[in-house]
Amino acid sequence: MAEVLVLAEHDGETVKKVTCELLTLARRFGEPAVVWAGAGAEAGRERLAEFGAARVYVAAAREFDDYVVAPKAELLASLVAAGSPAAVLVASTTEGREVAARLAVKTGSGLITDAVGIGDELIAEQSIFGGAIVVNSKVTSGTPIIAVRPNAVTPEPAPGAAEFVSADAEVSDAAKGAHITERVIAEGGERPELTEASIVVSGGRGMGNAENFALIEKLADSLGAAVGASRAATDAGWYPHQFQVGQTGKTVSPQLYVAVGISGAIQHRAGMQTSKTIMVINKDPEAPIFELADFGVVGDLFSVVPQLIDGIQQRSGG
Ligand SMILES: Cc1cc2nc3c(=O)[nH]c(=O)nc-3n(C[C@H](O)[C@H](O)[C@H](O)COP(=O)(O)OP(=O)(O)OC[C@H]3O[C@@H](n4cnc5c(N)ncnc54)[C@H](O)[C@@H]3O)c2cc1C
Repeated sequence: MAEVLVLAEHDGETVKKVTCELLTLARRFGEPAVVWAGAGAEAGRERLAEFGAARVYVAAAREFDDYVVAPKAELLASLVAAGSPAAVLVASTTEGREVAARLAVKTGSGLITDAVGIGDELIAEQSIFGGAIVVNSKVTSGTPIIAVRPNAVTPEPAPGAAEFVSADAEVSDAAKGAHITERVIAEGGERPELTEASIVVSGGRGMGNAENFALIEKLADSLGAAVGASRAATDAGWYPHQFQVGQTGKTVSPQLYVAVGISGAIQHRAGMQTSKTIMVINKDPEAPIFELADFGVVGDLFSVVPQLIDGIQQRSGG
């Protein structure tokens, strides 16, 4: 059976959830083999085995941590040339998409980004124009390279050997064009990372000011959720830009998305409309966001959200 290569997303010790999702998908199309670029593979091995990785190609040379994405694309290109895999799956993150694009050029292959699912015969599903259109497409040249959005599938464990295979290769000078001089870990607090979270609670212009975002944070914390925001809120300086959801922000696809005081402009929808369940709190019954809602409350958020938090806390005994 041909391999399906999965580029691991990790922070040097922890395997990100999206990698387990990619392994779950990869199993349907061949033998899942992880590509681990950089240090820390040993720390991630158990989790990779738990989600079915048959093999882990480890390239631990410093170049993979010290330079921006180009060495990873070179590494993948050498593994594609050596092993002719059935496909290469990467996470559709900012870094993953760039690695995928460079890999596509190097291998003369077709590339599909932002897939929200992969069906039979590696037909990828994309959701475009704010979710108004679903596109099914298939790579017809070279090795199919597919960048899949985090949370597209539920990760399912399946035992794998996670056999380590050394894949360190010479990194070209051309790939060392951009050196990482410093890494600053953003203060994320205890909340899950926005694009990986199972639940996201987002606030919009309806919040009224920055201080009122404390209410969104309280609701998020009662649900173990990440906090997001509309562009109206981030442009107003009420919440940091890195939490913006939408066309020019992050794309999220959680199990539950709670939109509070957000009207549902197409640019906001583009970043959240593939969420599995959408709950809306808005005082305007005509707000377009209700078109997407599985559950909606028409009401003043300053009355509804505190009651919601109370209800959640009572249920959880908190
Ligand atoms: C090129 C481009 C890219 C863009 N990219 C993005 C993007 O990535 N993400 C994004 O979000 N936007 C983006 N936008 C902006 C987008 O068009 C909207 O302007 C924005 O999403 C509106 O944010 P909002 O829903 O919070 O505000 P509004 O549209 O003003 O909606 C506020 C909502 O809050 C409700 N409300 C007010 N008070 C209360 C209350 N007390 N209780 C309950 N409900 C209340 C109102 O009824 C209203 O529906 C982009 C625009 C452009 C042109």
